[in-house]
This record gives sequence, C-alpha cells and structure tokens, in this order.
Amino acid sequence: MSDAEQASDFDPTTTVDEFEPVDVFPSSEDMDLRPGADNCYKCTSCDTSCPVAEVDESFPGPKFQGPEQWRLKRGEDVDIDDSILSCSNCMRCDDACPSSVPLSQMHNTARGEYVEEHMDKLSREYLRNRMLSNYRTLASIGSKVPRLANFVMGLGITSVLGEKIMGIPSERDVPEFATETFRQWFKKRGGSKVTNPDKQVAYFHGCYSNYNTVEVGKAMVRVFEEFGYEVLVPKQQCSGTPMFANGMLKDARREAEVNVRELGKAIDNGADVIASCTSCSMALRQEYPELFDIEGIEDLSEHTYEAMEFLRIHEDLEGTIRESEVDPQAFAYHAPCHARNQGLDRQAVELFRELDGAQIEDVGDSCSGISGTYGWKSEKYETSMKIGAEMFDHMEHAEGDVGMTECPTCAMQMNHGTGYEIRHPLELLEEAVAN
Ligand code: SF4
Ligand code: SF4
Repeated sequence: MSDAEQASDFDPTTTVDEFEPVDVFPSSEDMDLRPGADNCYKCTSCDTSCPVAEVDESFPGPKFQGPEQWRLKRGEDVDIDDSILSCSNCMRCDDACPSSVPLSQMHNTARGEYVEEHMDKLSREYLRNRMLSNYRTLASIGSKVPRLANFVMGLGITSVLGEKIMGIPSERDVPEFATETFRQWFKKRGGSKVTNPDKQVAYFHGCYSNYNTVEVGKAMVRVFEEFGYEVLVPKQQCSGTPMFANGMLKDARREAEVNVRELGKAIDNGADVIASCTSCSMALRQEYPELFDIEGIEDLSEHTYEAMEFLRIHEDLEGTIRESEVDPQAFAYHAPCHARNQGLDRQAVELFRELDGAQIEDVGDSCSGISGTYGWKSEKYETSMKIGAEMFDHMEHAEGDVGMTECPTCAMQMNHGTGYEIRHPLELLEEAVAN
C-alpha cells in the first residue's frame, strides 16, 4: 500500500477510545501470566538462588523456566522445554525475585502443560511420577495393613525391584506407616477435648501426619487444646503439593476442590485453618489461588496459617515459652524452603531460643535437596544429595545431634544424610506447654 493510499484510509474522526490493542501474546488461560512475565528485568537473582542450577550445569534456571519460556511459547511455535521437569518446585526463586515475577506459578503451569501434551502416559517416568504424586492413595491402602506393608517395603528385594521397575532409588528408606492413623486416633479419643465455639481451628494434617508421623498431629492437637482451642479435623484430601511438582494439575485440582469445599465449611463457621506441614500451608495459601479458579479459594487462602504462626499471632506464645522448661536437649534446625517463602524461616529458632533447656541452632539457608518427590526419583537422586550436602555438613557441625524441621520430606532427607533422629517443632512445643 502506498503512502497516499494509507493516508486516504486514515479516518480523523476515530477517537483513542475506539483503538483496538493488538494481543501480541494471546493467552488462552483465565489466569493471564503476561503482566508477571513483563515484570522481569533479567537481574538473574532467581538463577543465583536456584539450588538445582547450582549443582546441575544442564539446568537452565528459573528465569528461563519462567518469563523466557513463557514468552517463547507465546510468541512462536515452540514447545515447552523438557528441562521444566528438572525444577524441583522448591519455590526459592519466588522469594529471590525483587520484581514479584510469579515464577513458581509459571513453572507449575508450564510443567502441567508439558506433562499433559508431551509426556507418554504409558512411560515409566509418567507412571512413577503419578504414583509418587498420589502418595495418599498408596498410603491409605498401606495403612490398612501397616505391619505387613512395613515388612514388605523394608525388604531388600522390594527396593531393588522399586529401582529397576519404577525408578525409585534403592538408597532411600520408604517411610513406615503408623499402626494407627492420626484420624483413627482422633476419632478414638472422641474428637477434641475442648468445646469452644469462639476458638475453633480446622486442622489440615496432610498425608504424612495422618499416615506416617502421627505424633506430629497428636502434638498439634494437644498444644492447641492447651491454649483453649477446639480442634476440628474436617474431611480432606492431599494438599496437591506433590502433584504440582510433577505437573499433575488435573489430580491437584480434584484434591483442591474437596479441600476448598470442606475447609470452607469450617471457615464459614468461624474457624481458621492450620497446617503442621509448611508445604501444605504453602499450597493452600499460594498455589491454589495461583492455579485454580474455585469458589471459596481466596477465602481459604486468607484463613490458612502454619500452626505455630497462628499461635504467635493470636496468643502470647513467646511469653508462654519463656515461662516453660524442657529436659536439656540440643537441636540442629533446618528451615524448609516453603517455610522461607511464607516468612517463617526464623520462627522456630527465635521462639525456642527463649525455652529453658532447649538449645537450637539454625543450620543455614541451604535447601535440603529432597523437595518432596524430587529426591525419590533415581535420575534426580544424585542432584538431590549434592544439594543436601551443605545442610548435612552444617548439621554435623552443630551442637545438637537431633534434627528439627517443619517439613516431613526435609526430615527424611536430614535423617538420610546424617542418621539423626528428626523432630517437628510442635513436638518440642508440646513437651514445653502441654505436659
Ligand atoms: S522452584 Fe526451585 S528448582 Fe525450580 S527453578 Fe525455582 S529455585 Fe530452581
Ligand atoms: S529475579 Fe525476577 S526480575 Fe530478576 S531475572 Fe529472575 S524473574 Fe527476572
């Protein structure tokens, strides 16, 4: 078209209001990530904070996985790069970004798209990842016959077959099932010992506190009752954390729908939701509203707390701890990455510093390396242990020979790398205030 023809097409009566913007990066999703991608100014803070990139040169890092891949994907005919499966979903990059780029939301979305569109659903990798993601289903079967399940899982032949057939590293010890689940225990004792319609909390116990580390859930109940709370234990599914990390977004949504609905009923009756696992509270607070559009999801996000955080906000937890005492003991404390993202990484250290008899040492800000199901994959085992090496070393140099953390899979890795017994902060709090 000549300049003269273009000039003749120009209509001087068209106002700015009638201008139709061109959608350079068309988005089919309801939750548009474009503003987040545009916020990236390539400072690389996220890349330098990524524990996987630090030990694995082939991993392109969070900036590529997030804003760069997002732009490439939208601007050209490009598929999601398979390196997205090497991101462990530790979410440290979220915390590192000074420009609030929603990196983990981008990673979760890209991983979901990759798994849905490009992964062979009959491949060993897909079947193994699906099984690991749906641990709750396995655990609910195993916990029906816990002694038999523990015996079979403890056999050498089982771990050899697990490695060969499913790609689960034989070096890992499968966690034992409790002989009585947390929910069975809670029901047997007749529910909460406290009745108080004005102080109610709904406990999201997650899978591990229900099937494996039942003592954490019991401690949580006893501590909250000591502070006068009626503890409710609503129906619930997995938080979805392992599903996000494996790109199983349909599974995660199925679980989220139940959790939003059931926990929402307790919220409507005036309760807040508390979790003892920092990855569960992270999922309910951040990942749910970032990834799903379910009625009541924002409400759940706003009413969810990590258990000790809730007591710090609503009770004089510090004062109570200061007046309490426990038998002399020293702990090597590791802050899980997902606690860091919620600003809770110093919480246990600062609180227990005031507790007579307890000595607690922070073993540094490194990642444990297991990241839920990540370290449970043969091809990631070495990376997982390389990442964890700094934490193991710091634990061994700490005064205490008992570890402490809020995350059940970090606890597994801490025990795996050092042989230490690992406890949850709620167990020490129970000893201090509820005995
Ligand atoms: S979530 Fe963790 S592993 Fe994944 S890119 Fe971010 S920092 Fe790296
Ligand atoms: S830290 Fe944020 S702004 Fe900096 S490169 Fe990463 S995503 Fe971009």
